[in-house]
Parts: sequence; C-alpha cells; structure tokens
Amino acid sequence: MVALNMFNALSKLLYQIKVNNYVYPLINNDPLYLQKKFMVHRTFTCVIFILFCCSGIFSWLIDNAVDPIAAKDTIWPRIASLWLLVPAFVMRRTKNYQQASILVITSAIADLLHSLAVFKILNNSLPLGVGGFLYYPLGTTLLCLGLSIRVSLICLLAVTLLPPALALSGWLTNFPHALYASFMGPAAAITALVSTTFAWSYHRRFILERSLEEASNTDPLTGAANRRHFQEVLQKEVARSCRLDRPCALLMLDIDHFKRINDTHGHPTGDLVICALAEACTQNSRQGDSVARLGGEEFAILMPGTGTTEAALLGERLRDHIEKLATYSDTGVAVSWTVSVGVVSVRPSLNENILDVCERLVKIADTALYDAKRGGRNCVVTFNENNSAQ
Ligand code: GH3
Ligand code: MG
Ligand code: MG
Repeated sequence: MVALNMFNALSKLLYQIKVNNYVYPLINNDPLYLQKKFMVHRTFTCVIFILFCCSGIFSWLIDNAVDPIAAKDTIWPRIASLWLLVPAFVMRRTKNYQQASILVITSAIADLLHSLAVFKILNNSLPLGVGGFLYYPLGTTLLCLGLSIRVSLICLLAVTLLPPALALSGWLTNFPHALYASFMGPAAAITALVSTTFAWSYHRRFILERSLEEASNTDPLTGAANRRHFQEVLQKEVARSCRLDRPCALLMLDIDHFKRINDTHGHPTGDLVICALAEACTQNSRQGDSVARLGGEEFAILMPGTGTTEAALLGERLRDHIEKLATYSDTGVAVSWTVSVGVVSVRPSLNENILDVCERLVKIADTALYDAKRGGRNCVVTFNENNSAQ
C-alpha cells in the first residue's frame, strides 16, 4: 500500500505539473506544444546530425586500432557516413515535428545498421569494439531532445535492442551478448533518465512561458484581451483581410455615465459592471471575433470578414441586450446601465499599409463612439469608410 502511494506520488510529480492553474501532462501530445518544442531544438538536432556524420568518419581511427589489416577495407564505408548530411539538411528545412520524428528514428537506425555492416568487415572485432555502442544511446538522446519523450524512448529502445536482435538472427556473428548487456543496460537506463529529465524541464519551461504570455495578453479583471494584445490581433486580422480582400469591422463600446455607477454604488460594483460588459461582448460575438478591454470601461470587438450592416446589427443586439440586463451590486441592489457603441467596417486593399489601415479603423470607430455619446448615449452609430454616419 505504501509502495503504491509512493508510486502514485511519483507519477503525479513526473506526469503532472500545476503552475497557475494549468495542468499539463508530461507526455504532452498537444500538437502546438510538440511543434514549439521541435522548432526550439531544430538547429541543435541538425548540429547533432552533423556530429554523427563526423564521428562516422573518425570511427575509422578506431577501426585501425582494433583491426589494422581489415581497416583498409573500411575507409570507404566510413566515408559513406557523409550520407548523414542529408537528414541534417532536411532537418534544417522541415517545420513539421512528425516528419522530423520519422526522420530521426529512421536515420538513427540506418546509421547503426551502417556501423554494424562495417563491424562485419572487421573480423572478430565486436568484443573489442563493444564500448563503441555506448555512443548510440547518448547520440539518439541528443538527437531526440526536440521531439516527444515517446519518440525519444522508442529510438533509444530500437538502437539498444537492434544489435543483439541481429546477432540472434545470425546476421552478426561472434556477438558478446553478456558484455553488451552489462555495458548497454545501465547506459540505456541512464540515458532514458536523462531524456525524461530534459523533457520534464522543457515541459516546465513551456508552461511558464504560456502563463507569462497569457498574463501579458490578458486583462486581469475581466479575462478579456488587453490593449497590447488587441493591437497585435488587429494588425494580424487587417493583414489577413488585405490578403483575402474582405472587410474587417470594429465595434467600440463605452459604458454611459460610468462615474455615476462608481459614485453611487462604489468601485467594487463598478468592477462587476465592467465584468458584465466583458461577458455580454463575449456572449454576443461570434467565433473568430476578438473582444478586448481597451482601458477603464471601454471595450472593442474586432470582427474579421464582417461588413458594415452585419456589424451594426451586432452592435444594436449588444446594446439592446445590455439595456435589459441588471447587474447586482455587492449589497444586492439591481444596477441598470447602458452602453454607447461606435461601429465601422473597412475593406483594405493589398497595396495599403497595414498600420495605416489599423489606425484608420480605430480612429473612425472612436469618432463613431464619440458621436453616439453626443447623440444622447445608449445608441449605436455606424460609420462607413468615408467617415459619414449612417
Ligand atoms: P460617458 O457616458 O461620457 O462615458 O461618462 P463616464 O462617466 O462613463 O465617463 P468616462 O468614460 O470618462 O468614465 C471613466 C470612469 O471609469 C473613470 C474611472 O474612475 C472609472 N474606471 C476606470 N477604470 C476602472 C476600473 O477598473 N474599475 C472601476 N470601478 N472604475 C474604473
Ligand atoms: Mg463611459
Ligand atoms: Mg470611458
């Protein structure tokens, strides 16, 4: 029972880490996670392939020490190790972690087979050269650093078991099974531990990066995007709208007479109203729209691919929804409140500067919102691109 509890505690420690309410399993199959891990380590993997390639050639010096007569026949097979430049080159180019995983596993196995074929040329050299096999678990661990821990362990298992398996099949003769097991057993166990430790530490780094990224993009009161993130999303969506030749709409909302709510019911109730506005915006927008708190009690909704009429309809629906909404103060009093909305939709063309379009979009939506305030509040003012109200 105690052993079982200890095992459970250990697997919890290894497989789940909780940071800022995020729980990610260590064996994380999230494609985004694996892709990021691969891209971070891609150059490193490429360098390890090049080192594999160089060590194949340097191995000839060991051949020469082990069996100087037969080593004359291994010069060209050792030079043929240059083939490892091909996976190194492909690794530098590929952006897909699945392709990279297949490439690493097949290349590591092919390289081992290549070395074993050279061993066959060196008569009776296996007992003397068995220490050289230690290079494979270490090498594959380094090659797999940017891949999933599963790929790493599969690769390690394959390079460890392949030589004795080939010996058992009769392809390799004079194979020192006991010596190999006494060398490779501990080596494989240690490198498996090293792989797991690296995977665990990258996993922690990923979670911390994610939580930092999210904290820097999110408004802590409402959980909506903040102004900084909104600017990034705006530029990205305007650029996409340019490419796809489609409109992009922006709604700007500001709570009417918000100071009065704060003064009458207190700041905590004001905060509840701001949160209720964030929720209303999220509820009434569609998937693909982005809601952001620009500051104070001012929000924006970015609606890619939306024309003026559709955006104005959403603005009106939201205004109507909020007008009928009651938010309860911390003392239980029902607080009614309204919003003014400015709406604009632009259709940028390919030759326009993205930053100029973003600035124009925000400026027109701001003017529309200002007009809604001047027009008596609790209303929607829609502007078309020529800055004329509709
Ligand atoms: P208007 O209808 O013209 O918009 O009038 P208003 O009273 O809403 O004026 P304004 O938009 O300038 O009011 C902003 C107020 O919002 C001032 C500030 O005290 C309050 N405020 C800003 N941030 C917060 C916040 O995080 N919580 C609370 N409770 N109040 C905030
Ligand atoms: Mg206001
Ligand atoms: Mg305001």
